[in-house]
This record gives sequence, structure tokens and C-alpha cells, in this order.
Amino acid sequence: MTREELVQKIEELKKEKNAIVLAHYYSNPDVQDIADFLGDSLELSRKAGTAEADVIVFAGVHFMAETAALISPKKKVLVPALGAGCTLADGACGKDLADWKAANPDGTIVSYVNTTAEVKSHTDICCTSANALSIVKGLPADAKVLFVPDKNLGAYIMSQTGRKMELYDGCCKVHDQVTTEMVKEMMAKYPDADVLIHPESACSSDPEILENPNCYMYSTSGILRHATESPKKQFIIATEVGTLHKLQKDNPGKEFIPVSEKIVCKYMKLATLEAVYEALRDEKFEVKVPAEISGRALEPITRMMSK
Ligand code: SF4
Repeated sequence: MTREELVQKIEELKKEKNAIVLAHYYSNPDVQDIADFLGDSLELSRKAGTAEADVIVFAGVHFMAETAALISPKKKVLVPALGAGCTLADGACGKDLADWKAANPDGTIVSYVNTTAEVKSHTDICCTSANALSIVKGLPADAKVLFVPDKNLGAYIMSQTGRKMELYDGCCKVHDQVTTEMVKEMMAKYPDADVLIHPESACSSDPEILENPNCYMYSTSGILRHATESPKKQFIIATEVGTLHKLQKDNPGKEFIPVSEKIVCKYMKLATLEAVYEALRDEKFEVKVPAEISGRALEPITRMMSK
């Protein structure tokens, strides 16, 4: 099938099944282009909850579809590729959390939304990279915070809030490649550019980066906002390369340079246009959260959403 035929079939199936396609900014550009809604984790979770649809095809990774399924239990949530995991979410399991909590009974577990439902079921409150600072700042001053699973995001939150937290030893293997040296090398090549960095990056709590007036630490939606609002014409983008598609589309007169072409999440690329079509056609692969944990896993998300 040609691309045009695939797109047409997808549109027909969406109408027939009252379905929508949600796509993350890291997904393939041609999938971003046919999505009904494009967003970061928080925006997509909200959209999953409010969308008037019977079927959601989630062009992202498994934990995102799982979060959508938790928020929208009456909708059929499909993930186009079964192997769409996440090095961050898959690096932490419920037993680790139960053990951590047992060792720290007075601890408050804050989970980045990039976790499995099982981990969420042991969590007090979730956060995303867009709201992590405000969620942590909003906790009682004397709370002992256990932050899971991203140590880079956790270290960044500590650097900005001055709060001490216990950090789980996990990271996103994609963003963990973004080092201070890599950023400095690109800044030397493009001295007029603003550098927009995702806080999952290895360099996100390095004072050398944080104190540099050209460096900014943002969630993906923050990166998009800054690029649109800034009068600057050139930007170094230190996050997953898929984000450049939306950046360039929204800002045709500006230049976006990836900090490295290697910052690619292979899991996000599994949802091809063809896989989206097959997911809609065959209503596969449905993501369901076991009933025994769904209630507890939803609570920390609801707490986050109400903030
Ligand atoms: S970029 Fe990192 S955190 Fe995001 S889905 Fe890929 S592996 Fe997971």
C-alpha cells in the first residue's frame, strides 16, 4: 500500500470505529502527521481521559498506553507494537518499590509517570517532567521523598528545589547519553543557539549546564514553547530526535539542530504508519491493567492530575 492509501484506510477505520490516534512527540514523523492529538506524556494522559472515543491507538510506548487504559477504563486502548517498551519504565518493578517502602515506612513515593502500572500501584503521587518541580515542591516540607525511577530527573529536581530525596537507580538509556561534554561541543559549534535540554539527560543537574545562560531545562512541551516564543533563530535540541519534526513544522523560519543524531528511542519508532493501520484494523494489541492493581495504580495519577 502506498502512504496515501494507508492514511486513507486509517481515516476510514477511525470513523468506522470511533477511534482516535494519540501520538507522542518522539513517534515517527508520518505518524505524528496523522495523529488526532500530539503531545507529551501528561498531555496525552489528559487527552485519553477526555476524548469522546471508543478506541484509542496509542502511538507511543507501553507504559503510556497503560496509563491511558487506567484513566479510560471504558475505552479500548491499543498499542501498535507489542515490543514498545521503555528502558526507564522497565527498569523498576513493583517488588523493588514494596521493599523500598518497607525499608522507609515514613517515605512518600513519587513516581515519574514513566513507570509500569505495577510500580504506580505502590506509589503515593505521580509526576511528569512537565510538573515534577511543582509536585515535589507541593509535598510537606518534612516528607521523606523516595523518587523513582529516573535518577537524572531526580537529581535535577533536587538541584532546583533544594530538597533532599532518595533516588532510585534508573535512567532512560536514550537521554542518559546526553552529557555535559556533548552539549559543550555543540555550543562551541553554534555559539548563538539556545540549548533546550530534557531533564532526563545525564547533564541535567550539572552546575556547568544549569548556570550557563544559553542552556534551558524543559519537558518536551516546554522545549516546544520556548522555541516558539524565543526571538532566537537557532536551537540545539537535547532530547529525542522525533521532537524536531514538530519544532520545525511550528517554526519554519528557525533552525533546530539535534545535540546528537544518536538520541533516538527505538521503542518509539516501532509504531509505524503500517502498524497503526493494522492496530486499528485488527484492534490489536489491547492494553489492559489487571483489576487487582488498577485501582491502586490510578490513585497516584488522579492525585497528580488534581494538582
Ligand atoms: S525515550 Fe527513554 S523514557 Fe522515553 S520511551 Fe524511550 S526509553 Fe523510555
